[in-house]
Amino acid sequence: MKEILLLKDGEIVLKGLNRRSFEDVLKKNLKYALRSLGSFEITSAQSTIYVKPLSESIDLDEACDRVSRVFGIASFSRAAVCEKTIESVLETVPVYLEKELNAVKTFKVEAKRSDKRFPLKSPEICRETGGEILSKFPHLKVDVHNPELTVNVEIRDFGAYIHGEPHKGAGGIPVGTGGKAAILISGGIDSPVAAYMMAKRGIQLTAIHFASPPYTSRRAEDKVVRLLRKVSKYAGSMTMYTVPFTKIQEKIKEECPEELFTIIMRRLMMQISSKIAERNDCLALVTGESLGQVASQTIGALACTDDASDMLVFRPLIGMDKQEIIDISYRIDTYNISIEPYEDCCTVFTPKHPRTRPVLKYVKEAQEKPNFEPLVEEAVNNLKVTHISAEDE
Ligand code: ATP
Ligand code: MG
Repeated sequence: MKEILLLKDGEIVLKGLNRRSFEDVLKKNLKYALRSLGSFEITSAQSTIYVKPLSESIDLDEACDRVSRVFGIASFSRAAVCEKTIESVLETVPVYLEKELNAVKTFKVEAKRSDKRFPLKSPEICRETGGEILSKFPHLKVDVHNPELTVNVEIRDFGAYIHGEPHKGAGGIPVGTGGKAAILISGGIDSPVAAYMMAKRGIQLTAIHFASPPYTSRRAEDKVVRLLRKVSKYAGSMTMYTVPFTKIQEKIKEECPEELFTIIMRRLMMQISSKIAERNDCLALVTGESLGQVASQTIGALACTDDASDMLVFRPLIGMDKQEIIDISYRIDTYNISIEPYEDCCTVFTPKHPRTRPVLKYVKEAQEKPNFEPLVEEAVNNLKVTHISAEDE
């Protein structure tokens, strides 16, 4: 039996005149997400995107899985395609939805007829289809108010489609329609979630990771690559820049007051990141900071970090509890990687008593004396570049 995926646009429908260009990006993203599965024809009409597999051998379970992670889609259905006659509809429904119909006790039929040339009106299609189902599945009852299963029959311009309950889409807006930003990614729980949340708002991401070998290991960096591959299932492919951070951290340790180590390190991360971001046409930085979570994330510490760069900084997790962040990390499948125990550069040289209320004036003075400029330049000019794609998982 021929099948198709019918996707409902999400927030794109609010975009008025820009809608066409949003939809074009969404179609491009879908094509990219599905490309390794085979050829698909992707078209759109009336707030619906049609994803038609061009060969019978394509794995549609996997296609649905991938589609469920593409931002910009409110819901989607996997549907049977049949001829546009009531006979064909009545023949297809009991066969295609046999498993679903056997698993419930109540159902209703909903029909949409956007092709007005079809001789039966929607209520008649419902009646005929409902009657056919009742005759083939005698255990079932119709419940129009609270059915366990809604059987959908859609008579559209290009064909007739049969499906059960639609699946929830990823929501958000298509990646690439919201400009570019650079995510500061560690191996922790928070920053991959922050990346996911900004991608959901249409942002295309570039990733920046600070590594301090030999204090941090090759495995810590590899962990970040694996995290980003998970994120790319939603955010699309991206470039990751690894910043050699060892010399800078050693200089902080040698020349700055211990209680300010972390805050100065974070300021330097922001300075370096904004340089990399600018070179990559990014208009903002993204971090996984959450207010009050650790000493470097008090309002005072964040004010000091924020001062380090003029670039706009997004902190999508700022008002979230750790558990809420963990719930999302489970859902996007990053949690189990994040908890692997490799040291991040943030945890080397951590002061015993970090300042939770640093005063910006003193922080700036402490940072000025050692003159980090040459090391910052050196770091920015010695980035390692890694291409991240979900398919390399
Ligand atoms: P995460 O779980 O994301 O590591 P965290 O709660 O451990 O966050 P910190 O270690 O203080 O908090 O880091 C705060 C933010 O700084 C991170 O969310 C991330 O955006 C950025 N960051 C921390 N370490 C690195 C790193 N090694 N490379 C790039 N960015 C980093
Ligand atoms: Mg961390």
